Amino acid sequence: MEKFNFKKKFGQNFLTDTNLLRAIVGDAGVGNQDNVLEIGPGAGALTTQLAEATKGKIVSVEIDRELKPILEVNLKKYPNVELVFGDILKIAPEEIGARFSGEPFRVVANLPYYISTPIIFYLIESGLKIKNITVMLQRELVDRIVATPNTKDYGGISVILGLYGKVTKTRDVPRTLFTPQPNVDSSILSIEIYPDRQEGIVEISKVVKMCFSMRRKTLSNNLLHGLNKPRAEVDAVLQSCGITPSTRAESLPKEKFIELTNALKNAKFIKNE
Ligand code: SAM
Repeated sequence: MEKFNFKKKFGQNFLTDTNLLRAIVGDAGVGNQDNVLEIGPGAGALTTQLAEATKGKIVSVEIDRELKPILEVNLKKYPNVELVFGDILKIAPEEIGARFSGEPFRVVANLPYYISTPIIFYLIESGLKIKNITVMLQRELVDRIVATPNTKDYGGISVILGLYGKVTKTRDVPRTLFTPQPNVDSSILSIEIYPDRQEGIVEISKVVKMCFSMRRKTLSNNLLHGLNKPRAEVDAVLQSCGITPSTRAESLPKEKFIELTNALKNAKFIKNE
């Protein structure tokens, strides 16, 4: 690794602590026949532990071609690891699916922080057969994703990711375990993807975003602004779901957003996608 210059622009903060790397593989529930997609293998420290845990196929997508010789050396013992060089967000999901021959797989990664949210949405919206996602993220982001109603961290991302799967924080990871050391702490997020996709998830997500668009505003205000409808009509739809129009989005559990979306569809305020 002496010759390698870490690139801040790619979010390169590498891990070396073998106990932690094994714990992440354990959190992901990787069994000895599982297929795994890893995003950003870096120098291959997590990839190595994944390859020790499974004989299934591991596809590791890395943006930085300068890591190719290092990865090839570090992973030469593991014929089941396939290295792909490119930007994960520019690779069509079908290509990833084809690399696993359409079989289900788990996602395990220490994600680059600068694009961790887009990568999570790329994965959950891809329609790929993903069993679960276990990723290292900035701690504040994990805390927001797993937050429950009526807390300061609860927001659109908590509701939307909660529609796709069961979200949990499995562990906190201090900044001191990374090289180079970042100026934030991290945590591991687990998303156990629900086998049946929530019906109308696209519309529900839009309603959630509208409801949280201005956090300090009431549901009534955010919706009449987003839908461009008279207040009385918006309030009537909210009340038909047992929601007080003057409450804020942060007090609604995800079930209420589903109910509200259905009521807005019935009132023809929003269309089916
Ligand atoms: N897995 C390694 C570890 O735990 O030590 C490295 C993790 S480091 C936080 C993130 C890795 O993602 C880096 O290797 C970086 O080059 C890579 N990366 C950054 N942006 C990427 C992208 N858009 N697509 C694929 N890999 C990316």
